[in-house]
Amino acid sequence: MKIGFIGLGIMGKPMAKNLLKAGYELNVYDVNKTAVAEVVASGAKEASSSREAASHVDVVITMLPNSPHVKEVVLGAGGVVEGIAAGTILVDMSSIAPLVSKEVSAELEKLGVVMLDAPVSGGEPKAIEGTLAIMVGGPADAFAKVESLLGVLGASVTHVGDIGSGNMAKLANQIMVASNIAGMSEALVLASKAGVDPSVVYQAVRAGLAGSTVLDAKAPMVLAGNFKPGFRIELHIKDLQNALDTAEQLEVPTPMSTAIIGMMRELQQDGKGGDDHGGLIQYYEKVSHITARAK
Ligand code: NAD
Repeated sequence: MKIGFIGLGIMGKPMAKNLLKAGYELNVYDVNKTAVAEVVASGAKEASSSREAASHVDVVITMLPNSPHVKEVVLGAGGVVEGIAAGTILVDMSSIAPLVSKEVSAELEKLGVVMLDAPVSGGEPKAIEGTLAIMVGGPADAFAKVESLLGVLGASVTHVGDIGSGNMAKLANQIMVASNIAGMSEALVLASKAGVDPSVVYQAVRAGLAGSTVLDAKAPMVLAGNFKPGFRIELHIKDLQNALDTAEQLEVPTPMSTAIIGMMRELQQDGKGGDDHGGLIQYYEKVSHITARAK
């Protein structure tokens, strides 16, 4: 099976390399030529545009930052629509607004191209290991055709429902992760202000009901003052904004996402948008005039 792969960033690069290792032929494109060169050195063929990457392949994968990038790369001038043949499947693995997945899918349908939205959770380490959680929306028969390919990239591949439902599951994931990080931050800063060692609080609670994957991933980093991404605050702002836009369309109140995006935007204004999202604790530290670090 031949694949066109567009978007070789933190996530796309290791994903493309894993597909090469598994024996798939890849045509790759990114505006960042250094990233392209690295994946070409691992055995991929360089394409000169998104159009060329999407030509003469069975599947096109996109792994781009957000909705406008996906629209431009797929539907724009020199884009996927100019090269893709009827019968090809487009798997967009970017985390974007569910409504935009539906819009792009409707345009591709006119060309006989089926789209799946298949965003991921797990971050760079799991992208490298090929153990991402992949949530997929779109027709079941197209899902069946790419399930084994996605199995190379993920430890779990779940067909959630119709087009857009993969990104809806991802937004749910991002709300839960943000809320976990905010809860952890609020709790550890309060304990610190009370004179209790936050690293001992972490050890005391991690095996109980408050224990979580998020807590075990983020508390050790936060307690060490390590905010190196990982997953950048500015990307989490993008996901929460997509959640808020979706909630507005559906007239659903989302008070927690609204509060947390405000904290994240304040940190972005402070020049911390590139920090790991565990760095959200710096908002609480700023307003409480204390840092929560291991003693
Ligand atoms: P990134 O910014 O590192 O990579 C995006 C890549 O897309 C870059 O290499 C960029 O040059 C390329 N690109 C942008 N516009 C382009 C265009 N017009 N044509 C060709 N290439 C273009 O982002 P990332 O961290 O790899 O994230 C990609 C997606 O995965 C995002 O939607 C993100 O929310 C999601 N995600 C990221 C993580 C993470 O931990 N980084 C985890 C889960 C999901």
